[in-house]
Amino acid sequence: MRLENKVALISGGARGMGAVEARLFAGEGAKVVIGDVLEDDGRRTEAEINESGGECVFVRLDVTSEESWQSAVNEAVGRFGKLDILVNNAGIYRTHNVVETSSEEWDQVMDINAKGVFLGTKAAIPAMRDSGGGSIVNISSVAGLVGNVLSSAYTASKGAVRLFTKSTAIQYARDGIRCNSVHPGTIETPMTAAMLSEEAYRQDRLNRTPLGRLGTAEDVAYGVLFLASDEASFMTGSELVIDGGRTAE
Ligand code: NAP
Repeated sequence: MRLENKVALISGGARGMGAVEARLFAGEGAKVVIGDVLEDDGRRTEAEINESGGECVFVRLDVTSEESWQSAVNEAVGRFGKLDILVNNAGIYRTHNVVETSSEEWDQVMDINAKGVFLGTKAAIPAMRDSGGGSIVNISSVAGLVGNVLSSAYTASKGAVRLFTKSTAIQYARDGIRCNSVHPGTIETPMTAAMLSEEAYRQDRLNRTPLGRLGTAEDVAYGVLFLASDEASFMTGSELVIDGGRTAE
């Protein structure tokens, strides 16, 4: 199994891509801690994984809180003995151009999407050092690579994640800690369900995707699994684009 004896913490793991990653990781032998603000969904995902023979525990995690992150890392180490993998996956999407974006919305998006990644990384590194190394996978977006007519704070937050990843990678490489970013295109998850239910929006996304389909959470989860595993042991500071070719043009 690809993650045998590994302990993984996945933020935003209650639903969407994070939950699919949690199931995939558990199926590959990892012990998984999922942290999220959505308690009911988190408990449901935890139960599903444990009932299917995996090992999973849900913790309430608000990624904007340093204390909350410390408790989640303590839970992983207390329950499973160590921490090897962190997936900074939690995020929110907001669609406003620059003039329409309020100062409050900017702060909320940056707090969750960018500061949340910083706080998670900061909390995980000491535990990973104790484990002799680790792998951090930060979920950015194609919106962290190219501009977007629909969003402003979101693209800024995902661009921040892209370069924060590279700084983390070079600062902790000698500790055996790798850090890479993942850049999904349009993926069908609860985050995008309402927008994609509008036919014009869905068609526009399809038209912009050379492979001619939208992504699934599994498409992204397999990339995250690879970066989390020892198969990617010579990769750090890299960007894995999973977008059906959207940014290739
Ligand atoms: P999702 O279904 O909304 O899942 C994200 C999870 O993070 C939700 O359970 C969400 O809860 C949670 N979350 C939000 N704020 C949080 C906080 N402060 N602390 C802890 N958890 C929090 O979204 P997804 O589509 O799976 O997205 C996962 C990641 O991929 C995000 O970082 C997103 O930006 C990125 N991404 C998504 C797409 C896409 O097309 N879906 C494309 C590129 C990148 P709430 O319901 O309360 O918000």
